[in-house]
Amino acid sequence: MSRYRLLPTPAQQIGLLTHCAHARFVWNLAVEQHANWRPGRAPAPDYREQSRQLTEARGAFEWLAAGSQTVQQQALRDFHQAMANFFRGTHRKPNWRKAGVHEGFRQVAVRAEHVQRLNRKTGRVWVPKVGWVRFRWTRAIPTGAKSYRVTCDRARRWHVAFAVVPEPIPAPRTGHIVGVDRGVTVSAALSTGELLTCPGLSEGEADRLLKLLRRLSRARRGSNRRQRVKNAIAILKAKAVDRRKDWVEKTSTGLAARYDLIRVEDLNVVGMTRSARGTVERPGRGVRAKASLNRGILAAGWGQLVARLEDKAPGRVEKINPAFTSQTCWACGHCASESRESQAVFRCVACGHQANADVNAARNIAAGRAVTARGGDRVAGPANREPQFAPPSAV
Ligand SMILES: [Zn+2]
Repeated sequence: MSRYRLLPTPAQQIGLLTHCAHARFVWNLAVEQHANWRPGRAPAPDYREQSRQLTEARGAFEWLAAGSQTVQQQALRDFHQAMANFFRGTHRKPNWRKAGVHEGFRQVAVRAEHVQRLNRKTGRVWVPKVGWVRFRWTRAIPTGAKSYRVTCDRARRWHVAFAVVPEPIPAPRTGHIVGVDRGVTVSAALSTGELLTCPGLSEGEADRLLKLLRRLSRARRGSNRRQRVKNAIAILKAKAVDRRKDWVEKTSTGLAARYDLIRVEDLNVVGMTRSARGTVERPGRGVRAKASLNRGILAAGWGQLVARLEDKAPGRVEKINPAFTSQTCWACGHCASESRESQAVFRCVACGHQANADVNAARNIAAGRAVTARGGDRVAGPANREPQFAPPSAV
């Protein structure tokens, strides 16, 4: 998702707000139909049924028919996606949207010519029934953007965000399986022995970011100085985000194209980053603080890599319980924490097998076997894994 500041004229703002109102109206109707459902009653209408009702409503109400059908239709689709996410257990139940708080709508079937660059700093996007709306061209538009979402925040600032859902990449059909481990010393280790590094901030950039963060904590709230420091921080962070995105795209494409099955460790990235919140907001001095900044970037990179893999290789990504994958010898299966000689080196205390510690873990993940704890067959939860948590995403 890349977000840009949208610059509608006052007349266009009225048109955009109408789209927002219609999207909200349709969304809230859908919420209401589902809210009225109780066990034992007829099922709440599904997408097709609600879609039919929308067509009917557009026939009955002129004000609704005057709006954009795609905007209204998309609001319904978004609602059903939200319900699907809710039933999967990854998101909260969709709720009513309020005027002035949740202002936004989505436009789909966007074609390349619907987004144009006017000059170095300005672009324009085509919005049905509103026309060409200008936006600040602050970075390259992702290629292949198929939809965008327009939002208005509480400060009445408009934004447009382009979303790209990549096309699935066909499996090579070689039968090859790869394991990917989130490494301690590198960003990701492959069971093939490859070590991948997600670019973060350079030494100099990390120094500068730390300086700026310190300056920010001293700057008076609401002062111009504070705003300047904030802008400088935002530019540095955007740089790191761009690099990370680039790495995620290239890496996920490569893996999806080279392997039939991709096994990754199943880490609750959200929970792990949340548990360490606070370290980056008040960073210490020197190397540790710098390292933690970069670790935050990498933590976010890992989550994005797995998400992108699932987009590009649907049905070909398996999440493996990571318990003991880094203490178990890939060669003989012996599990002992002493085998993990250091962050980087694994040397099996039973058979003497030696390997890069992250690669050894990646091989266990590739094997996909439930790795057992010492002294028993039980599969232990991730809590028993040695800590590999990353601090919050700094960027
Ligand atoms: Zn061994």
